Amino acid sequence: MAALCKWRHRLKPAAFFQNAARRQLSDKHDYDLLVIGGGSGGLACSKEAAQFGKKVAVLDYVESSPKGTKWGLGGTCMNVGCIPKKLMHQAALLGGAVKDAQKYGWRIPSPITHDWLTMAPAVQDYIRSLNWGHRVQLQDKKVKYLNLKGSLMDGHTVRAVSKTGKESVFTAGNIVIATGGRPKYPTHIPGSLEYGISSDDIFWLKESPGKTLVVGASYVALECAGFLTGIGLDTSVMVRSIPLRGFDQQIACLVTDYMGSYGTKFHWKCSPSKVEKLETGRLLVSWTDLDSGKEDQDTFDTVLWAVGRTPETRALNLEKVGMKMNRETGKIIVSADEATSVPHIYAIGDIAEGRPELTPTAIQAGKLLARRLFGKSSELMDYDCVPTTVFTPLEYGSVGLSEEEAVRMHGEDGIEVFHAFYKPLEFTVAERDASQCYIKMVCLREGAQRILGFHFTGPNAGEVTQGFALAIKCGATYTQLMATVGIHPTSAEEIIKLNITKRSGLDPTVTGC
Ligand code: FAD
Ligand code: NDP
Repeated sequence: MAALCKWRHRLKPAAFFQNAARRQLSDKHDYDLLVIGGGSGGLACSKEAAQFGKKVAVLDYVESSPKGTKWGLGGTCMNVGCIPKKLMHQAALLGGAVKDAQKYGWRIPSPITHDWLTMAPAVQDYIRSLNWGHRVQLQDKKVKYLNLKGSLMDGHTVRAVSKTGKESVFTAGNIVIATGGRPKYPTHIPGSLEYGISSDDIFWLKESPGKTLVVGASYVALECAGFLTGIGLDTSVMVRSIPLRGFDQQIACLVTDYMGSYGTKFHWKCSPSKVEKLETGRLLVSWTDLDSGKEDQDTFDTVLWAVGRTPETRALNLEKVGMKMNRETGKIIVSADEATSVPHIYAIGDIAEGRPELTPTAIQAGKLLARRLFGKSSELMDYDCVPTTVFTPLEYGSVGLSEEEAVRMHGEDGIEVFHAFYKPLEFTVAERDASQCYIKMVCLREGAQRILGFHFTGPNAGEVTQGFALAIKCGATYTQLMATVGIHPTSAEEIIKLNITKRSGLDPTVTGC
């Protein structure tokens, strides 16, 4: 898929040894390593470095969202990303499971309702336990945690400011920037900042968001809209162009079709023009249909902006130290060994240009960087074939190239696409519509047919995709896939039975065992 290929293309071959000379470990500094940002990448990097007996500190400081939401140590994923998102997705899936359960004989009194005030505090309490767990881990591993906002003074010096404005200065042999990003607000839209919220707020709301308009159509937008619909809220998504840009578009449409059939409303090719607050407290949103130019309006309780993220460089003083940035994205330019243009300073995770914005890549990049800096390793992070899953009501797991990307790289005649529409067994008795449960394997056409891309929609897509990611990383071919024995009865076994090519035009619907 395009997003994954983008990561691949930006990776230059290892420049590790050229940069080795720039690394400096010295007793004259306060720390061997100072990490700015205690999120997925920063925590992994600092803990790994401490294991080599190095003196390590991590600075983590959370600036409140414009709505005033604040959280603890651990970064985006743990506090306002993957973890609360997946738990709320689970809440939504359980709603579906309760409905299915009745078809399986469970007597459940109706109506089945969802209570935000039970779910949200439970999720938030779990996050607080993780915040605490990270603090304990840092202490155990002898990493100094400083709840301070860091900025660079030079290649070895960081200025740190506390929430009361108290300043300190620290020096370090090496500095790692892992400050991630924050949600964007479309500030050109009147009322967007005053009345809208972002993914930094949604998981911490004290009351149910009620009828919600989600603006945007990528991971964050569709996942949030998915769980809001799933817990029974009237939810609309406003899409200005295409869903899930960068992903295989056939599959992206299956994902939104499924959401549509389970109650999410879509405003296609529409763009909001203003948000006003009515006397009732509700929000009146006006928008333009981008095709017809027609104006339209509706009232909502909540408007959630999910229009992308901005790298968190505001406080870092990067210009002062002469750091090279990508002006368009605002991200820090790094080489294959995560080195920035300033000697002794490295950048990992969402802040680094061309890296996937995913937790496991930030973590692995952080660990490997620490090993290279202190552990006598030369292993570079390999950003190729990074798997990912979109946790929409119908989950979508993928690794490797989208069909569009494979065609662009190898030509229509150079690839073979094997595909199948299948019905998960659990959907049968529950009488669920499985029209969007689909598998696509994009392969080279010649020889043993190396697998270029894998796409799966269905229950537990993340779990299924993780295993296939290993195979694809190891260079698996279609021939090897066919030699693999399935596990029956599962959805994943349909993958190793794929035998219909798109080119054949045959009906790819799986029937029977
Ligand atoms: P972050 O985790 O963002 O950590 C950066 C930390 O640095 C923050 O704590 C920040 O407050 C702090 N900081 C910033 N500036 C300073 C400063 N000047 N001084 C001190 N501290 C500072 N990824 C997945 O793999 N799977 C998912 O399911 C998934 N779901 C997501 C859902 C949502 C809603 C969002 C928004 C993201 C999701 N992601 C997911 C992406 C994932 O959260 C990020 O890729 C990951 O957190 C990036 O890690 P990081 O270390 O680069 O930065
Ligand atoms: P993206 O940058 O991926 O997408 C932004 C979306 O907002 C696009 O649909 C874009 O539309 C739309 N948009 C941008 N500006 C406007 C506007 N002014 N009006 C209307 N729509 C607009 O951002 P996300 O925040 O969704 O995700 C950020 C990253 O976080 C992802 O790349 C992913 O790596 C990570 N993430 C991972 C998850 C996972 O692993 N499951 C879950 C969530 C996030 P258009 O296409 O037209 O530009």
